[in-house]
Amino acid sequence: MYDVIVVGSGCAGMTAAIYCLRANLKVLVLEAKVVGGQIVNASKIVNYPGIKEISGIDFSMNLYDQVIDLGAAFKYEKVIDIELDGNKKIVKTTDNSYISKSVIIASGAVNKHLGVNGEDKLIGKGVSYCATCDGYFYKDKIVAVQGGGNTALEDVIYLNDIAKKVYLIHRRDSFKAENDLINKVKECSNVEIIYNSKVVSINGNEKLESIDLVDNDNNESNIKVDGIFIAIGQIPENGNFIKFVNLDKNGYIVTDNNCHSKVDGIFIAGDCRSKDVRQLTTAASDGTLCAIQAINYCKNESF
Ligand SMILES: Cc1cc2nc3c(=O)[nH]c(=O)nc-3n(C[C@H](O)[C@H](O)[C@H](O)COP(=O)(O)OP(=O)(O)OC[C@H]3O[C@@H](n4cnc5c(N)ncnc54)[C@H](O)[C@@H]3O)c2cc1C
Repeated sequence: MYDVIVVGSGCAGMTAAIYCLRANLKVLVLEAKVVGGQIVNASKIVNYPGIKEISGIDFSMNLYDQVIDLGAAFKYEKVIDIELDGNKKIVKTTDNSYISKSVIIASGAVNKHLGVNGEDKLIGKGVSYCATCDGYFYKDKIVAVQGGGNTALEDVIYLNDIAKKVYLIHRRDSFKAENDLINKVKECSNVEIIYNSKVVSINGNEKLESIDLVDNDNNESNIKVDGIFIAIGQIPENGNFIKFVNLDKNGYIVTDNNCHSKVDGIFIAGDCRSKDVRQLTTAASDGTLCAIQAINYCKNESF
C-alpha cells in the first residue's frame, strides 16, 4: 500500500511528491501524458523565484529527476477512477489498480485551443496561452490577443505596457468582461480592437509571421504579428474525480484554504483547484499544503 498517490506530474503534483518523499512516505506519481504538465510547452520560464531562466522542458526534467532521486515510483498511466474502502483509497488507472492511504489530485487544466491551422505547430514559437508568462518576450513587438472575457482583456492591459502594438480580436461586437477592464482597455494607447472577427489561420514555419482573420460578413484579412495570445478559456481536467469533489461554476474543484476536498484523505493541488491565480508558484504552494495535510493524515489515521 502506498502512503500517497499523486495524480499528475505538473508543478503541483511534483512539489507535493517532494515534500511527502522527504517525510519518508511511500509515494506513487501517476501521469497520463508528459512529465511536467502544461509548463513543458513554455519556451522560457523567467518568473520562478531562484531560477533566472529555464526552458519548460528542463524545468520538467529537473522535477522528474528530483522525485526519482528521492525514491518516488513514477508510472505513465491515466487515472480513471478512485474508490473508497474505509480509509483506504483504490486508485484505478487504464492499466492497474493501486491502494493508498491518501490521494493528491493535481490534474491541472488545459487551455482551450482555437483549433485552427498552424496553432499547435507554433506553440512556443509565437503562439501562447499565457500573457503573464510569455508577454515579456514580445517587448516592442506586435502581438494579437483573441478573446473577449476578463482574461483576454487583462492580457491586453498587461501587453499594452510591453508590446509596440496589441490587436484585440473578438468575435462579437461587445465584451463579456467587467466594465472596469473594458474601460481600461479603451484607454490603452497601443491597442487596436477588431470586433466581429476571428482568427482562422496562424501562419509561419519556424516562428509566427502572420494571422488570417475572417469577419462576420466573411471578409478576409491578414495581419503581421510576432505573437498571438489565445485567451478563450481553460478546461480543468477533473472529469474522473467528480464524485469526490464539489465544483465551482467553471468546473474547478472547490477546497478549503488548506486544499482539502470533501473526502478525508483526498487533497487537491494546482490549476485544477478553484482559485484566482494559476501559475507555477501557486501550484507549488498548493502542492506543499497538500503534502503537509497528507503527511498528517497518514500519521493520525488507521488503515
Ligand atoms: C505555454 C504555457 C506557458 C506557461 N508559462 C508559465 C510561466 O512562465 N510561469 C508560470 O508561473 N506559469 C506558466 N504557465 C502556467 C503553469 O504552467 C501552470 O500554472 C502550472 O503548470 C500548473 O501546474 P499543475 O501541476 O497544477 O497542473 P498541470 O501543469 O496542468 O499538470 C497536470 C498534470 O496532470 C496530468 N493529468 C491530468 N489528468 C490526469 C489523470 N486522470 N491521470 C494522470 N495524470 C493526469 C496532466 O497530463 C498533467 O501532466 C504556463 C502555461 C502554459 C500553457
